[in-house]
Amino acid sequence: MSTIFKKIIDKEIPAKIVYEDEEFLAFEDIAPAAKIHVLVIPRKEIKNLDNATDEDIILLGKLQLTIAKIARLLGVNESGYRVVTNINADAGQTVFHIHYHILAGEKLGVMA
Ligand code: 5GP
Repeated sequence: MSTIFKKIIDKEIPAKIVYEDEEFLAFEDIAPAAKIHVLVIPRKEIKNLDNATDEDIILLGKLQLTIAKIARLLGVNESGYRVVTNINADAGQTVFHIHYHILAGEKLGVMA
């Protein structure tokens, strides 16, 4: 089932997009948990890593390199950043379209 992120991909609802290409989109999180908080998603609808398959190997590899590229575009690659993906309930996943949080722009706290 499609999520709110599909609506962002389709430009049916607005988002502050910081990067996009044929396969990926990155936009500012609506409720930032750090000074810089960007979500990176593939256009392909995959619920989370638990639902990714061998068919997604290249996409997921490219996604990691795209995250690094976006971090450079944001100018946080040298100061540092954290990449997080939540999977299902205990991790607190709320949107079931695979996404990676880029958190940066300040000294980040210890992870849970
Ligand atoms: P999750 O908790 O699933 O790992 O992360 C979902 C993230 O999506 C949350 O950090 C939440 O603030 C963000 N989010 C939810 N709805 C919207 C929206 O409509 N627009 C944007 N830009 N972010 C959203």
